Amino acid sequence: MNKPVESAAIADAAHAYPEQFLYIDGEFIGASARAGSTVRNPATGQVLGQLPHATADDLQRALQAAERAFATWKTSSPLDRSAILRKVGQMVRDRAQQIGRGITMDMGKPLAEAVGEAMSCAEHCDWHAEECRRIYGRVIPSRLPNVRQMVLRQPVGVCVAFTPWNFPLNQAIRKIAAAIGAGCTIVIKGPEDAPSALSELARMFDEAGLPKGVLNVVWGVPHEVSQTLIASPIVRKVSFTGSVPVGKQLAALAGQHMKRMTMELGGHSPVVVFDDAEIERAAQLLSGFKFRNAGQVCVSPTRFYVQEKAFDKFMAAFIAAARTIKVGDGLDPESSMGPLAHERRVPAIVSFVEDAARRGGRVETGGERIGSVGNFFAPTILTQVPDDSLVMTTEPFGPVAPCVPFKTVDEVLRRANSLPYGLSSYVFTTSTKHALAMQNGLEAGNVNINHFGQAMPEVPFGGVKDSGIGSEGGAETFDGYLTTKFVTQMD
Ligand code: NAD
Repeated sequence: MNKPVESAAIADAAHAYPEQFLYIDGEFIGASARAGSTVRNPATGQVLGQLPHATADDLQRALQAAERAFATWKTSSPLDRSAILRKVGQMVRDRAQQIGRGITMDMGKPLAEAVGEAMSCAEHCDWHAEECRRIYGRVIPSRLPNVRQMVLRQPVGVCVAFTPWNFPLNQAIRKIAAAIGAGCTIVIKGPEDAPSALSELARMFDEAGLPKGVLNVVWGVPHEVSQTLIASPIVRKVSFTGSVPVGKQLAALAGQHMKRMTMELGGHSPVVVFDDAEIERAAQLLSGFKFRNAGQVCVSPTRFYVQEKAFDKFMAAFIAAARTIKVGDGLDPESSMGPLAHERRVPAIVSFVEDAARRGGRVETGGERIGSVGNFFAPTILTQVPDDSLVMTTEPFGPVAPCVPFKTVDEVLRRANSLPYGLSSYVFTTSTKHALAMQNGLEAGNVNINHFGQAMPEVPFGGVKDSGIGSEGGAETFDGYLTTKFVTQMD
């Protein structure tokens, strides 16, 4: 039965939520020194702690600290940067349980997933530690014997970043490790609803010996902080992960001030299951992946197109798998899906289900909130949903899976590519012909065929169309943080 679970162990753990800080110019500033906001546990509604917000002076101080630190950090040895990133990677591994518990408490995901996020953060540190030693320029053959032509890649300068609550540690480390590894300095505003992971990350960089001012962590009212930071003449680069509407606002602001940007925005990822696929395996895998983090993942599969002949078989297996998911407090080891991260996400998910039902959609399982304490929502599968319904056209960012049949390759490509999003996509087939048509035809930054293999540190990750600009990870990871300078010299 899907039911929030309470236990003494869970209640005890709530007392262990760490104190939260601003981190500016190497100084930790606690909640007793600033007004701020309250952090709550989405599984219980309990207050976990207070978060200090940066004042206008704090923001300026953070920017100035980052500017001062850039003067020396930009010429630091890549070996020194690498060593710090490696140290932090090891610290994250050593503290994974503690960091994971903070993440589960403030944003709700099951503890095993939260600890997994910490382990993945350590891998991001390692990858950037390795890659930052390979930031190469090049020599271009010249037209004259006494001329040397070179391309230098140099750190862009002070960066600002804004990261969300769904992966509160990993969305932050991707930006921090890339900026620091490239020789930039950074002011980052993390998610006010789920701050513990980023606070701990600041603590670890500090302990690892990162010079003061290279990393600064601030909190506040999101649009006020982003407006101040992006408009500052000190700042040269903006990086944001979050929703498409907010991304467009920040991109417009960055454009107005001619700042470089990386935008990792939302998606509405199509899944295409051909009738030649291993149907049961696809259904099992997709159920696990769809309901991971309660569907609050930018690459979550969100539109399921299943070829006609396999539709009934797929649905039976997919629904059965979804019904085995145990929804509960993420600190309970029995739980495989936690609450939605915020109270506001519950009516948002209800609106998708109600709109589908109004248009003739069928709720095959779930469809409603569970209990009255915490933001628990049942894993939900919808069928007979028209293509123009809300859930098929707007990123649901929750545990809702609308499933519809299709007939042909051309038809499914047209429907899959019909939205402005272009982040991720999934295909299940045993036909190389179908696989090739999909990898060539899908308008998406990531195409996963017969498995899920994206977003690891060694592979590039990013969206096309409204889903964003630029890549994080892979050999491309520093591209957004470096300028290209051409030097020509005659003897
Ligand atoms: P939201 O758009 O208000 O906030 C999403 C994140 O962006 C939050 O962390 C928030 O602090 C930050 N943010 C919001 N306005 C900002 C601004 N003006 N400047 C800087 N940062 C700002 O929505 P929400 O209710 O918190 O989350 C739900 C929506 O957010 C979903 O529909 C989903 O599309 C999107 N989202 C996407 C991702 C992602 O990884 N792409 C992650 C989290 C949320």
